[in-house]
Amino acid sequence: MIVDFHTHTTASDGELCPQELLRRAVEKGVDLLAITDHDSIDGYLDAREKLKVLANAEQQIRLISGVELSCVWSGVLVHIVGLGFDADSPFLRDKLRQQQLARIERAQLIGEKLKKYGFPGGFEYASTLAGESQVGRPHFARFMVEMGHVDTIQAAFKKYLGAGKPGDVKHTWPAMNSVVDWIKSCGGVAVVAHPLHYKITATKLRALLTDFKSAGGQAVEVISGRQMQDKTQYLAQLAEQFELHASVGSDFHKPGTSWSEIGNAGSLPSRCVPVWSAF
Ligand code: MN
Ligand code: MN
Ligand code: MN
Repeated sequence: MIVDFHTHTTASDGELCPQELLRRAVEKGVDLLAITDHDSIDGYLDAREKLKVLANAEQQIRLISGVELSCVWSGVLVHIVGLGFDADSPFLRDKLRQQQLARIERAQLIGEKLKKYGFPGGFEYASTLAGESQVGRPHFARFMVEMGHVDTIQAAFKKYLGAGKPGDVKHTWPAMNSVVDWIKSCGGVAVVAHPLHYKITATKLRALLTDFKSAGGQAVEVISGRQMQDKTQYLAQLAEQFELHASVGSDFHKPGTSWSEIGNAGSLPSRCVPVWSAF
């Protein structure tokens, strides 16, 4: 069985719309799929509707609800994936609106900072570029290039938007405990996304998992995209020690990236308890 519990659509920073993503998942033989856009379930909701009217092949794929929530633990920006929750929960909808608002407020602040440097209109321009998707620094970088303020995207980040630069406005994300709570309170399972992507020591990762577990978190991504066997074994061991279920996700954003292709992440070591055993 091919499972992919971490994918993005145009509802966040992915390139494929929900229907295209479904098609691709079917082509790749995925049996069980979760769309996990950043702080948004719009892609999932759209796909859920599309599935009702699509042809046979698509209908055979099982779609579960998903989201990837940004939060903070001990000063570190952490991503928590929520799976199998009640997507119609008004409580969750409200929390997601708050997350989206936080993103917009941050973008407005970036716009103000750039204005002070003599580049007005950035927020409006970036928002137009983002369209239905979430506005972020890459859109501001394009604004700067297209308005002739800098020559390249790289230069925009290097001079104005990168770490420590004027447009580097910090996010104000909720605490990890809170987002785990949100997911749990609408019947979902919380999963630590890509545990090896945070720039923290092994000791700190264990501390994160300890706190996550005591907050009610239940699973960890043992496989995130195409990764080396030693990483998979290491994460499988952590999952076992912390008695967490194991998830698998490609973190697919766009076609043409073989290390994060839909359904291509591989299968779990036998010592793992798959998170989908709960669904
Ligand atoms: Mn992303
Ligand atoms: Mn992530
Ligand atoms: Mn992701």
